[in-house]
Amino acid sequence: MKKTMHRLSTFVFAFFSCVAVFAQTIYTGPLFDAHLHYNEEAWNGKVGPHDVLDVVGRLSRSGVKAFVGNSRPNAGTTTLAASAEVKAAGIKVVPFIRLYRNRADYTGWFADESIYQMVLAEYAKGTASGAYKGIGEFHLYDSANANGEVAKKLMRFAQDKQLAVLAHVDDTAIDLLMAHAPQVRLIWAHTGIGGASAERVRGLLTKYPKLMGELSYRPGLTCDGGQLCPEWRSLALDFPDRFLIGSDTWVNQRWTYYEELMTGYRTWLGGLPADVASKIGWKNGANLFGLK
Ligand SMILES: [Zn+2]
Repeated sequence: MKKTMHRLSTFVFAFFSCVAVFAQTIYTGPLFDAHLHYNEEAWNGKVGPHDVLDVVGRLSRSGVKAFVGNSRPNAGTTTLAASAEVKAAGIKVVPFIRLYRNRADYTGWFADESIYQMVLAEYAKGTASGAYKGIGEFHLYDSANANGEVAKKLMRFAQDKQLAVLAHVDDTAIDLLMAHAPQVRLIWAHTGIGGASAERVRGLLTKYPKLMGELSYRPGLTCDGGQLCPEWRSLALDFPDRFLIGSDTWVNQRWTYYEELMTGYRTWLGGLPADVASKIGWKNGANLFGLK
């Protein structure tokens, strides 16, 4: 009898453990997409497959209530910022100034005075949703270019105007960029797309209290069941105020899978304590840009 009871309780325990694994809660709160591009080819003013209504539909179905918009050229962002449909859907636009007028600008912006002038002009114009709140996303494929004259000037401009900076760079460039403007709010796009170690990420977050990590395309982020891998789980728990999620719709294919991308985030957010999930999913972005 005792043995039977023991077997029974083992069975019951195993059963409920399985239920606990499969009934993994999914995060159901609002999402802040901190890395959204509405590039020319997505809409094109005429024939793009993702017109404003398509975008509003995808964001609404995904529970995205606000996003950082940054587009090549900036007309993509200003279009969304002026859209009655976006406003009617209750979606807030946080406009950033993109440094790129075209693809060629990706590789030379850090030394191109005409880009600095374009940023100043764009900043002066603002958007229908109000002033620009940041600059970027910009890319540095060679971290040494973080010391380019225009890169330095833009970092100081961002610091002076209290603009956030969204930067797709390696860990070495984080140190170089922060040296130009130690008070700037730097959002590290992808938090090390080249695979900087979790320990290195931890070191940088500790060293720079205003550094934030955006997690799209981050290698090694998720493991079994789409949950955070152990070292990223401990980063999220130790720095709950420092991470953001993003779609990075840099090519149209990312628009095609927008809802799946957001479901992926909801899956691992659901595996975190509720307060941490709501910070990373929504509050960190909302607080950064003063949204309700
Ligand atoms: Zn991007």
